[in-house]
Amino acid sequence: MARLGSWIEPFPEGIYVRPADAWIDPSQRKERALVTHGHADHARGGHSRVWATPETLAIMGVRYGDQNGVPMAYGESVRIGEVDVTFVPAGHVLGSAQIVLDHAGERIVVSGDYKRREDPTCAPFEPVPCDIFITEATFGLPVFRHPDTGSEIDRLLHRLHSDPSRSVLVGVYALGKAQRVITELRRRGHEQPIYYHGAVERLCRLYEELGVSLGEMRHCAGVPKQEMAGHIVIAPPSALNDRWSRRLPDPVTAMASGWMRIRQRARQSNIELPLVISDHADWDELTCTIRELQPREVWITHGREEALKHWCMLHQIKARELNLVGYEDEDD
Ligand SMILES: [Zn+2]
Ligand SMILES: [Zn+2]
Repeated sequence: MARLGSWIEPFPEGIYVRPADAWIDPSQRKERALVTHGHADHARGGHSRVWATPETLAIMGVRYGDQNGVPMAYGESVRIGEVDVTFVPAGHVLGSAQIVLDHAGERIVVSGDYKRREDPTCAPFEPVPCDIFITEATFGLPVFRHPDTGSEIDRLLHRLHSDPSRSVLVGVYALGKAQRVITELRRRGHEQPIYYHGAVERLCRLYEELGVSLGEMRHCAGVPKQEMAGHIVIAPPSALNDRWSRRLPDPVTAMASGWMRIRQRARQSNIELPLVISDHADWDELTCTIRELQPREVWITHGREEALKHWCMLHQIKARELNLVGYEDEDD
């Protein structure tokens, strides 16, 4: 009998599904691409044909222009070559999907990026039992245990209210984290207008068009400094220490990222208020998911593979590292 999963092959530029002649999240242009979600390290422009959820196709459209896309609703299956392909929710960002591949009596699930905690901006992760689970490991070390999101949001609000003469500038990635932080603030009863840097505007608009309401949002451009005192301002991380931030009234610099768990990292980037809010599974979510799915093998990409591989071996699950390149943390 052939080795389990012998019909898919990891290459540095992505995972090749031979009987479908298709690539998953390829970092180079391909004829057929199956795309898990819209972050730039997974979704590139220029493929001849793209299978993805309608939301991911819309995000790719905003970033790269029109795609020759085949929209895949969650739970819907399509046969590509000799493989049945199904997209199911990954809980990472709006439209994010795990890709389920069925071929020759074997089921392989490619998680893309995922998380297990609740996120008001996207559908929750759906566990799909499988023979091979291909998992990310962005935060694949036991030190990464993300705190409760609500308590991080409360810290942000507390800081905001403690000095109404200052604004709080929150660094966030434009796709996913920005909209999640805004929605979580609304859930905690924060109804004030939230100001934003132009770089997050298009994706906030798109989220709203796709049904995620963000409340009252105001562009920073041309707003008198004092008007933003006592308000939250959302901007990409690159703007935090940039001269752009001088337009804000004495801003408290915050950053929402799983990496904020590492104090040194926060200090290096002059972050006064580190908020540990991540769109990736932390160590417990990674290991609980593997326990729950009980796959025969785990293939690990994208991050700190070594510790998770060791954990799998301790739990009698065969594991291997895939050395894909070009997966950066646009989206931590
Ligand atoms: Zn991602
Ligand atoms: Zn990623």
